[in-house]
Amino acid sequence: KVRFTRVTKRFGENTVLDGLDLTVAPGERVTLIGPSGSGKTTILRLLMTLERVTDGVIQVDGEPFSHMPAGAGGKLVPANERYLAPRRRHIGMVFQQFNLFPHMSVLANVMEAPVNVLGLDKDEAAARARELLGLVGLADKADAHPTRLSGGQQQRVAIARALAMRPGILLLDEVTSALDPELVAEVLDVLRDVAGSTDLTMLCVTHEMGFARDVSDRILMFDEGRVLESGPPEKLLDAPDHDRTRTFLGSIR
Ligand code: ATP
Repeated sequence: KVRFTRVTKRFGENTVLDGLDLTVAPGERVTLIGPSGSGKTTILRLLMTLERVTDGVIQVDGEPFSHMPAGAGGKLVPANERYLAPRRRHIGMVFQQFNLFPHMSVLANVMEAPVNVLGLDKDEAAARARELLGLVGLADKADAHPTRLSGGQQQRVAIARALAMRPGILLLDEVTSALDPELVAEVLDVLRDVAGSTDLTMLCVTHEMGFARDVSDRILMFDEGRVLESGPPEKLLDAPDHDRTRTFLGSIR
């Protein structure tokens, strides 16, 4: 379970998140929507500990994540790298840009973290990587170099790479935004399969409302650092309470 308690994030004078309370249940699929700059990506980056909270606390599975207990009293202080590193492994993230290692084969990309971070045996990591490449429909590309692949294929490798760490939580940050339109569907189909065949907790930022409708248990509409409204897809997409949500949905359809 993921819990944000009164989380505020400022960049200088710019308050991006303003006292956000958010709980995501184990296995829940939550999609974050809202105008550009409303703080959606920042939520994922905070959870990935790529950014630090200005105020408030993030917990994962009941443990502080943004902070760590220090001293005999267990007072919470900002978490350091040593505390975070093992915890971060439970979270996988796929970005808009695929960020594959260009000098390594597809298989080596997927094996890299399990071998170097988890210390998995190479044969075991390779077997698992091939299985995941099968899941994303790229079993025949194991030996190819990422630069030889289409954007859609590269993003599917990035998904396999994130799953190779066996995360409990998968964060998807506009994973189709950098793709040519004709390549979007293959990536979303793979993610539908992943959603259907795992019990991963998923937090997803996307403008693909068809996908959001298919996979989400809940959609949150953000505006100016706050949740304006939230609900199951059929409620939020078809009968939102706020004009602001209706206007936003109209603008991206
Ligand atoms: P988008 O769809 O454009 O990615 P978003 O809702 O995901 O929008 P964020 O990326 O979370 O929004 O950004 C929210 C605000 O925080 C923006 O005003 C952005 O300029 C600012 N911001 C994000 N990261 C930084 C940073 N590292 N330094 C300064 N400002 C930042």
